[in-house]
Amino acid sequence: MSAASLLKRPLLIALAVVMAAAPFAGATPASAAATSSLSKSAAAARPAFQLPFPCGQQWRLDSWGHAPALDMTKEPNQAGTEGATLVAPAAGRVNQSFLHANAGNLIQIDHGGGWFTTYIHLQVRSVQVGANVTMGQMIGRVGHTGETSNGVPHVHVEQAFDANGNGSATWGVAGSERVVQMYNGASYGTANSQTFRNVTSNNTCGGTPPERYKYWVDTFADAPGRSTPGGTRTGTLLAGTNYVYCKVEGPVVSVGSAHNKWWLQTDLDTGNPWQNQYVSAYYLTRWGNDEARDNNGNTIRDCVF
Ligand SMILES: [Zn+2]
Repeated sequence: MSAASLLKRPLLIALAVVMAAAPFAGATPASAAATSSLSKSAAAARPAFQLPFPCGQQWRLDSWGHAPALDMTKEPNQAGTEGATLVAPAAGRVNQSFLHANAGNLIQIDHGGGWFTTYIHLQVRSVQVGANVTMGQMIGRVGHTGETSNGVPHVHVEQAFDANGNGSATWGVAGSERVVQMYNGASYGTANSQTFRNVTSNNTCGGTPPERYKYWVDTFADAPGRSTPGGTRTGTLLAGTNYVYCKVEGPVVSVGSAHNKWWLQTDLDTGNPWQNQYVSAYYLTRWGNDEARDNNGNTIRDCVF
């Protein structure tokens, strides 16, 4: 029996189980609301995802009957799939890490801007909820946990956009928030029954600096950007949806009864220099005095210098 037939038969059975069990209670059917939310947020560009394996490794990607989800096995013949190192495809923060009844060991990473990736059937989970990860950082090992793996070592991977804006992404079934996957700028799994052979990982090849984690925040007015918290004016962060990297305590900005002691490191829209400047958290649309949170309510982490 060929490696392909060995692989395909059990995975198709596994898929039927997934579909029937609808393992994730939060799966959200496509709706008008989701569509409008998606178009609104389309400006938040997808991170530059790389394959979730170390630089130079070659993997096989199959959509089987569950495009745009992909099952990944190690080339050339699946040997070494069980226990293979799984790494983050981009920077982010772990928002789910648990043993799921049907899917086995599961990790979901929040990459910011509404973008998520999900991994199931893992042998080992190396990161817990709340961990910040950099591109290329090990997050677990590939395995065959969960009955829907049907005992075949592989990692089932999904990329998703949080269309309903609830701060996580549904997965595992048609109608969930998963989208066609992109790695290193190329799309995979636009339809069922696609197989991609010898896809090579470019994840952190050549010592590419890790991508920094971005928090997405709405700001209600153009905010002066400064070289340090409360320091020299260097430019402006325009009102709208912006990313910030981290927070640091500094001079309090007060306007009427509103006040905020936090300063957010960000890249400005105008000015010189414009990178790694600071704006007051006073300009956050959604949050009150001395709060510094992103649009999902997550507290923005402290800057580490
Ligand atoms: Zn799968």
